[in-house]
Amino acid sequence: MTVAQDLARLRDRFAASDRLPVVFLGHGTPMNAIEDTAYGRSWAALGQALPRPQAILVVSAHWMTRGSTLVDVSAMPRTIHDFYGFPDELYAQSYPAPGAPDRAREVLTALAAHHAEGDDTWGLDHGAWSVLTWLYPEADVPVFQLSIDMAADLPHHLEIGRALRALRRRGILILGSGNVVHNLRAMRRGAGAEPYDWALEFDRLVTDALETRDLGRLADRAALGPLLSMAHPSVDHYLPALTVAGAAEAGDTLTFMNDSIDLASVSMRSFVFG
Ligand code: ZN
Repeated sequence: MTVAQDLARLRDRFAASDRLPVVFLGHGTPMNAIEDTAYGRSWAALGQALPRPQAILVVSAHWMTRGSTLVDVSAMPRTIHDFYGFPDELYAQSYPAPGAPDRAREVLTALAAHHAEGDDTWGLDHGAWSVLTWLYPEADVPVFQLSIDMAADLPHHLEIGRALRALRRRGILILGSGNVVHNLRAMRRGAGAEPYDWALEFDRLVTDALETRDLGRLADRAALGPLLSMAHPSVDHYLPALTVAGAAEAGDTLTFMNDSIDLASVSMRSFVFG
């Protein structure tokens, strides 16, 4: 089935549903924000297929906190250019969507047991805006971010997703942005750069666990073993996938997008529960 057919099927499902889907996107290089790629085109098509949310909560790999979970409560989040050595054109990008302070307070309430706190110092990092610029190019849907607590272990991030699940019926689109496999130290450039076996293996493991709804396996360090540290020397790009998986409901259909591995060690696999 082609991506277009998948998205048409999704659109029909969403039309009949009262809850918003949850989305995880593999974002890859910041250049995907401005280059014409299959990824950008798929994100634009997804934006067309999704029901229009009242607000978007982005769980980005690039807002890392330790010992806290922060929610951006600012009225106008700034565009953060959190990367180095890229072309001027990328630094000239801005994503001027408004924030959603009232909706952010709903998230704080939903995460009260997890000691979430409001914050107005962050904004939108490239994990958020590099995909949003394709999903909602008019920047007319309010957006706010949730940080990932790097001091909390994997099951916590599934739990955060479960705690956010009810917001899907309140017009909030939960959007995770990271990568299912993300090892920049191992990346290889060039046409002949075949994916590493461990990259394919971890990507397949995540796919299987999502398909069988064996979410506990995704967060079980002992079961994931050394494969986890190969696929993710640091788990920042993995955690948003756990939160999105945690927000899935039993009645959701799972759809995958962009099941390719870039630079031998970065999986672009994306998924939608809806
Ligand atoms: Zn990233």
